Amino acid sequence: MYADVIVNLSVKSIDRPYTYRIPTGLEDKIVPGTPVTVPFGKGGRVIKGFVTGIRLKASISDDRIKDILDICEKSNEIEEKMLVLAAWMKDEFGSTMNEAIKCCLPVKDKIANKTVSTITAGVSKEVLEAALGEAVAKKRTARARLYEALLRKGELDRTYALKELKITAAALRDEEEKGFIRISTVDEIRGPYKDITERDVAPVLTPGQQEITDSIKADLRRGLRRDYLIFGETGSGKTEIYMNIIGECIKAGKQAIMLIPEISLTYQTVSRFIKRFGDRVSIMNSRLSQGERYDQYMRAKNGQADIMIGPRSALFAPFENLGLIIIDEEHETSYKSESSPAYHAREVALKRALIEGASVIMGSATPSLESYTMAKAGRLVLFKLVGRTGNAVHPDVYLVDMREELKKKNRTMFSYALREQINDRLNRKEQIMLFLNRRGYSTAVSCRECGTVIKCPHCDISMTLHKDNRMICHYCGYNIEKPKACPKCGSHFIGTFGVGTQKIEDELKKVWPQARVLRMDSDSVRRKGSMDDCLKAFERGEADILVGTQMIVKGHDFPNVTLVGILLADLSLYSPDLRSGERTFELIAQAAGRAGRGSKKGVVVIQTYDPKNYAIVSAAKRDYEGFFEEEMAYRISMGYPPAGIMLAIALSSGDEEVLAVSAEKLADEVRRLYNDRSRFKVIGPAKESIYKIKDIFHMVIYVKTYDGKGLRMPLDELRQRAAASVGEEVRVDYSFG
Ligand code: ADP
Ligand code: ZN
Ligand code: ZN
Repeated sequence: MYADVIVNLSVKSIDRPYTYRIPTGLEDKIVPGTPVTVPFGKGGRVIKGFVTGIRLKASISDDRIKDILDICEKSNEIEEKMLVLAAWMKDEFGSTMNEAIKCCLPVKDKIANKTVSTITAGVSKEVLEAALGEAVAKKRTARARLYEALLRKGELDRTYALKELKITAAALRDEEEKGFIRISTVDEIRGPYKDITERDVAPVLTPGQQEITDSIKADLRRGLRRDYLIFGETGSGKTEIYMNIIGECIKAGKQAIMLIPEISLTYQTVSRFIKRFGDRVSIMNSRLSQGERYDQYMRAKNGQADIMIGPRSALFAPFENLGLIIIDEEHETSYKSESSPAYHAREVALKRALIEGASVIMGSATPSLESYTMAKAGRLVLFKLVGRTGNAVHPDVYLVDMREELKKKNRTMFSYALREQINDRLNRKEQIMLFLNRRGYSTAVSCRECGTVIKCPHCDISMTLHKDNRMICHYCGYNIEKPKACPKCGSHFIGTFGVGTQKIEDELKKVWPQARVLRMDSDSVRRKGSMDDCLKAFERGEADILVGTQMIVKGHDFPNVTLVGILLADLSLYSPDLRSGERTFELIAQAAGRAGRGSKKGVVVIQTYDPKNYAIVSAAKRDYEGFFEEEMAYRISMGYPPAGIMLAIALSSGDEEVLAVSAEKLADEVRRLYNDRSRFKVIGPAKESIYKIKDIFHMVIYVKTYDGKGLRMPLDELRQRAAASVGEEVRVDYSFG
């Protein structure tokens, strides 16, 4: 048997692990992740490496392969713990070991640190002036430019000297050696947070907050490792609890990871942590380059930071003595990685915490079905946090049936009830938020008269309309011609919803020309920082109405907003996704939570074509438990997660024909491998709901089961069969969901 071994953690060595022979006696002990000692290079120097894979055949001739010397004794290194995590991720999420390692370990690549070099004069002004005169006389024009600029500006950026003044690097070195100039280099200061110097003090906790904090802290002090879920609406004070416990954790000499979804990672949120904890905080976000990310990781590793704040990738911060992982807004979809390993931050956090003896605290106003199921089973300790007394009272919620509006000949996007409310707010100079749930696709077909949505009879998921007038189920591939009339009521008024925020903005301006309208969606906030600017302008009262997508329901508090309109609550319900009900509930609950945050009572108007839908009804009633029961019953009956588990095998290729043939072939292999029909259901292949992206075509095969272990076991075998049956031009990715 042979092992792939990486000998130092660089990008190159992960992509090209070295092959070593596993000596007899060690076969059973060596698994991916095991630290080993190996002879390396010509001299056979003994160094440490990590096993990334086991194989029966080697690709190079046997006499060139050396033996692994031994297994390293367990030491306390961060890398080892992270490799254990990587090995687990490989199995759990169906990736390769290399992909898992790349995800878990901050890998040094060739991108140099960003530095700023400044040139200053090394001699007096007089000497420099004399040198300038001499250079001009001798026609040494480059030097003349340098001296002249230095005299004029006092100091120069090195890049400016090279690029603008066109002075060669050699010339600069020469000048430096002569002592004419000095070049000083510092690491570039990153992030807009350096200027936050204010510090605040923790407020006195409310009894509700105190009870939860005391309970968690008591566990921590006793060394009792548990994981927690805090169920409390936005603004109920969860972040104060997190900060309080982080403080305790740091005092005990441990470190903390604070996960916040990218979209909520605003200046406002981050500055709260910096004001509390100062420069012990390190921040990551997706805008950081690979090199910058590495720097942030190293700050954690070198003990320069105790708290890492960031989106899901912050989970892999290499802390020496991790005590706590917090996942705020744990229901957010951005916690799931789309690329291999397609991991969910929640699951990795729980595993990493287990490996390191740390605790996980999750928080949400609308917990995911996954975590609430865990809480019910006692796997998570559940705390409920009720908002502060004296804090805003709950808004009044009106559910408007848009089919009735149609009968009353109102074909606009604003129901009579909503119009009345908008007029009222404009008169009272209070603010309005209008929310269009665009997470759904406008490619689902529904009936405007009875609200029926065309769903796949096999999967109970919305079917998607394609250009050729065919409707396709993107779970199983079932397809039909688009019906001309509603299958339920016979109405011919059926079709897709083609509404967008832009169109709403235009209509608002027509109906209420006096109103000042701000629009916020992914088009309008493409520019960096423009999202913050837009929200701040609204906060300052520079607009009466803010219209936008789910973006506007997160983050900021607007005390003057007393009306929230949800224009088409059903939109996300139509998305071809088994979690569309959950997304709908969560979006409505969050949007509704935006009304009446100040001292004035708020109103929420929910417009829908499906006013009996349980996701919409329970969101309107703020009835999470009721929603959970119904949604769970649906998941159980369909075998969808978290009741069952699904393996998604995604195939993609630029060649449509090759892809279709490969997908069929692979599906056959999958059926052969998971041939126990009573345990496994193989679905597909089907085109993905977004079939073509940037000229690459996407297809998918699902395996559905209640037996997670049985599903994972044959994965390595499946990988090998896929390699044999699928063309080279087809990429295959595996994920569980
Ligand atoms: P959540 O994280 O649940 O949305 P936050 O912790 O952000 O809630 O609290 C909402 C607001 O209430 C914040 O402005 C916060 O500063 C304030 N706040 C929270 N707890 C307290 C407290 N015990 N005393 C005073 N203000 C508080
Ligand atoms: Zn109908
Ligand atoms: Zn189907």
